[in-house]
Amino acid sequence: MQVKPPPFRYHAPGSVEEALAVLAEVGADGKVLAGGQSLVPILNMRLAAPKHLVDINRVSELDYLSADPAGVRVGALARHARVERDKPAFRVLPLLHETLRLVAHPVIRNRGTVVGSLVHADPAGELTAVLALLGGSVVLRRYGGTERTVAAADFFRGPLESDLRPGELAVEAVFPVPAGRTGLAVRELARRHGDYAMCGLAIAVGLNGGEEISQVRAAYFAVGDTPVVLDLTEALAGSPVDRADWPAAGRFAKERVRTEDDLHATADYRGHLVEVLTARAVRTAARRAKGAQAA
Ligand SMILES: Cc1cc2nc3c(=O)[nH]c(=O)nc-3n(C[C@H](O)[C@H](O)[C@H](O)COP(=O)(O)OP(=O)(O)OC[C@H]3O[C@@H](n4cnc5c(N)ncnc54)[C@H](O)[C@@H]3O)c2cc1C
Repeated sequence: MQVKPPPFRYHAPGSVEEALAVLAEVGADGKVLAGGQSLVPILNMRLAAPKHLVDINRVSELDYLSADPAGVRVGALARHARVERDKPAFRVLPLLHETLRLVAHPVIRNRGTVVGSLVHADPAGELTAVLALLGGSVVLRRYGGTERTVAAADFFRGPLESDLRPGELAVEAVFPVPAGRTGLAVRELARRHGDYAMCGLAIAVGLNGGEEISQVRAAYFAVGDTPVVLDLTEALAGSPVDRADWPAAGRFAKERVRTEDDLHATADYRGHLVEVLTARAVRTAARRAKGAQAA
């Protein structure tokens, strides 16, 4: 097996404008290099052979993170580790911290970027499901000042395929905070801590004023070609948080999420994980919505 990348021309722009100019010139022959945690192995295994690599690591204007009550905005050079440890981001959206602790290992999180993970669009990537659950978006820019914001529902098009077009740079990801009394949680099962999950989900549970469940929505990862979003409200609507039938929500999900075999798990086993993890995650999220300590 080859372990060296095919030849490419290396570009190291110092600004977004410079990066966009190079991307416009090289078009479909170019690839952006961010943390390199997915791209470099892919190049080394010769699964991709771009003629130009546009390294954005010197583009410091993309190294930002901002949090306000509406949500968290993550610039394209913000590393997983920075987002994981950022206190304002934790206060408004603790789900990001909880999720990033499940992404790979600390060394990888020191280099890998949140935006890179989203563009990479690995269906087993935790952040794809979180963006889908929250109804977030990715901001894409091209040379000449054109910018478009693509909603998560349209951004993930297939395994390792996002809506990024040749010549575009993803500049920012936006993770909105859900409205009302909503609790969030993420659960997954991986063979070893830090591995990609065999199955996982991020979930949001909304309560009405009377502490009854009014809305439940989940986004599953590592079960389909893209994040699989499921509305589970029907399974639990009107249940008080103290007396809800959590296993029923698990069964409801198992009946609706189509799972497949791969090298890591059978479809049946994945279906079982969907059921068990949903029951656990929904209970935790509901208790968080109520303001109790996480279970
Ligand atoms: C051993 C190992 C375990 C891992 N485990 C997990 C895991 O459990 N969960 C998980 O989610 N990830 C996991 N990862 C992947 C890791 O999270 C990467 O950080 C992430 O997939 C890509 O981020 P990056 O910044 O390194 O992107 P890169 O590798 O630099 O790029 C990835 C792809 O995105 C494109 N790209 C990146 N940034 C931009 C941009 N701003 N604009 C346009 N295109 C862009 C690149 O061209 C490339 O196609 C693992 C990686 C390794 C090596």
